[in-house]
Amino acid sequence: GTAVALENVRKTYQLGEPVHALDGVSLEIPRGSYTAIMGPSGSGKSTLMNLVGCLDTPTEGTVVVDGEDVAALTDRERTTLRGTTVGFVFQTFNLMPRLTALENVALPQLFQDVDRGTRRERARDLLERVGLADRADHLPNELSGGQRQRVALARALVNDPALVLADEPSGNLDTETEADILDLFAEFHDAGTTMIVVTHERHVAERAERIVHLLDGTLERIEELDGSDEGA
Ligand code: ADP
Ligand code: ADP
Repeated sequence: GTAVALENVRKTYQLGEPVHALDGVSLEIPRGSYTAIMGPSGSGKSTLMNLVGCLDTPTEGTVVVDGEDVAALTDRERTTLRGTTVGFVFQTFNLMPRLTALENVALPQLFQDVDRGTRRERARDLLERVGLADRADHLPNELSGGQRQRVALARALVNDPALVLADEPSGNLDTETEADILDLFAEFHDAGTTMIVVTHERHVAERAERIVHLLDGTLERIEELDGSDEGA
């Protein structure tokens, strides 16, 4: 099946002179696939991610996520689709300042039908997988930038979303932490999650199955990577 389908998508920002952030993009992302998005600054990567993440709607064309035409949904339905299907790993981490790392990670599960013990157990497991088990009871301002990013990552993955959208997920991370995060992505991919990762780093993109290259709001080319991504 198809996780995400864009058909002839145009996104125009009207600030005086109109800017076509995306201009006639058609793209199908199969369920369970691992896609990297690359392109120079201003090529439309963030705009594409916002559309796929149901944060925005196209000016023209259609965006279908998990079988739903995003533009045809009410705001409320879009919010629900976002909350149940999509996990965002974006640079702006927005951690709750008065909640511990563990509580932050457990938060998205409040809207799920799981008891408190299970929520904490699941949050602890995710913190362990991002290498922060020993920081579970720290507040965000007691963590480094890289640690906060990992808490945000654990929170994005805690509900086991069908679709994970990551924007420069390893931007501020040291090499070792980056490797851990990319291994975690590979694990989620192996478990059937659809992964879409925006990156400037070729070696990050090469963990994916294909690289979508954007240029000036258009799809320049799709590069299929044949080396299978078997983890260590
Ligand atoms: P990238 O993520 O590849 O850097 P963006 O999707 O952020 O590219 O931007 C694509 C184009 O759209 C750029 O020319 C940018 O200036 C413009 N753009 C993006 N967001 C907005 C906005 N909210 N209002 C006006 N122009 C925008
Ligand atoms: P990074 O290279 O990941 O940004 P830092 O050099 O900022 O890491 O932090 C190193 C260590 O100091 C981390 O273990 C972090 O938990 C701790 N730390 C950073 N900022 C604070 C703070 N405000 N209060 C307590 N501990 C902190």
